[in-house]
Amino acid sequence: MDLYDIVIAGCGLSGATSARLLAEQGYKVLVVEQKKHIGGQIYDYRNEHGITLHRYGPHIFHTKIKQVWDFVNRFSEFSNFQHHVLSFVEGNFIPFPINRQTLNLLFGENLKTKDVSVFLQQEVQKSEYNPSLPSFRDAVVSQVGARLYTLFFEKYTEKQWNCNPDTLSSELAGRIPVRDNNDCRYFSDKYQGMPVNGYTAMVNNMLAHENIHVLLGCNYESIKNQLSAKLCVYTGELDRFFDYRFGKLTYRSVKVEFKTYEQELFQPAPVVNYPNDYDYTRITEFKQMTGEKSNKTTVCYEYPSDDGLPFYTMPNQENQHLRELYMKEVKQLEMTGKYLFIGRLAEYKYYNMDLAIESAMKRIGLWLKH
Ligand SMILES: Cc1cc2nc3c(=O)[nH]c(=O)nc-3n(C[C@H](O)[C@H](O)[C@H](O)COP(=O)(O)OP(=O)(O)OC[C@H]3O[C@@H](n4cnc5c(N)ncnc54)[C@H](O)[C@@H]3O)c2cc1C
Repeated sequence: MDLYDIVIAGCGLSGATSARLLAEQGYKVLVVEQKKHIGGQIYDYRNEHGITLHRYGPHIFHTKIKQVWDFVNRFSEFSNFQHHVLSFVEGNFIPFPINRQTLNLLFGENLKTKDVSVFLQQEVQKSEYNPSLPSFRDAVVSQVGARLYTLFFEKYTEKQWNCNPDTLSSELAGRIPVRDNNDCRYFSDKYQGMPVNGYTAMVNNMLAHENIHVLLGCNYESIKNQLSAKLCVYTGELDRFFDYRFGKLTYRSVKVEFKTYEQELFQPAPVVNYPNDYDYTRITEFKQMTGEKSNKTTVCYEYPSDDGLPFYTMPNQENQHLRELYMKEVKQLEMTGKYLFIGRLAEYKYYNMDLAIESAMKRIGLWLKH
């Protein structure tokens, strides 16, 4: 264990990015990962029908940040995949997020680009909401009106978080993306695509450096006392590091169920959301994201659940409070220069892939300068 300058707990995107950046500066890095595979949440594999599946739910790469795009392109070629989502609403497949076409299809209108914001203002004016103490519902209704809220957001949010959206914070709603044109792409970021050989292959290439050693099936806790590394980059659950001293942070999980069908294509878009029907929130057809050819197709159904692996941080006051307590401890440890807490689990914060990479780049960059 004395062979290593740095130990990294967790081999997801945050751990792999950190490992690569440190290895390129000449540090000898040991990455320990509790699972039997690399990649963390973005792990993918090819099934017996030659279809690449995302084990923990669908992942689409998109970013505005050139530095991050350049970084991932060092480790994988990317396709030019532009993501599309349809929402199954009132028996029809409707483009989502809301754009001009969505409104025209749903409301039988013939709106031009210049009409869209006026139409939405009228929808909002017709609706009741509380602007002074907004909940999630109020925040959405104040932007798009009650009809669109009910069709696209209300039940989906209930399924996703297993609670009444009135009790959720308005921050969760954020700015609802609405396009006044017919651009039906899900993301509008300049850079988007899928790694052509998959995410696991991309992460594998990141780790392919003479200064990086990866140990799979190994908990950080089981080796931490044998280490004399200069730095520990911890990317596991925040509360777990501190042995749940202040209590347990809660997550929403998702049961991901794969089904293979004896047909070439299953649905009219890579992802179809089911906001109002069924127990699952969405179905993803992977072939439509990767462009793989097969006479069968494998799709995944996502069922949100309180039990299971930690997927989404739960945005409630109790967790917010616990996070603050743990982050105070983190600050103390990080001040010693011997620890960094990086990533979605270690910071108890939702990061898209690009922001996870950007954050690791910044944090490792600062540490290297200290
Ligand atoms: C369902 C879902 C869908 C998503 N879709 C998208 C998308 O389409 N586009 C996008 O940009 N982002 C998406 N994301 C976000 C993306 O998954 C994250 O940005 C990314 O996984 C963050 O990587 P990470 O390394 O911080 O965390 P993780 O991938 O969770 O990696 C942490 C690793 O640490 C390991 N670990 C934890 N504790 C220990 C320990 N004590 N010892 C050893 N190992 C440990 C874990 O096993 C895990 O492998 C999605 C997230 C979810 C939940």
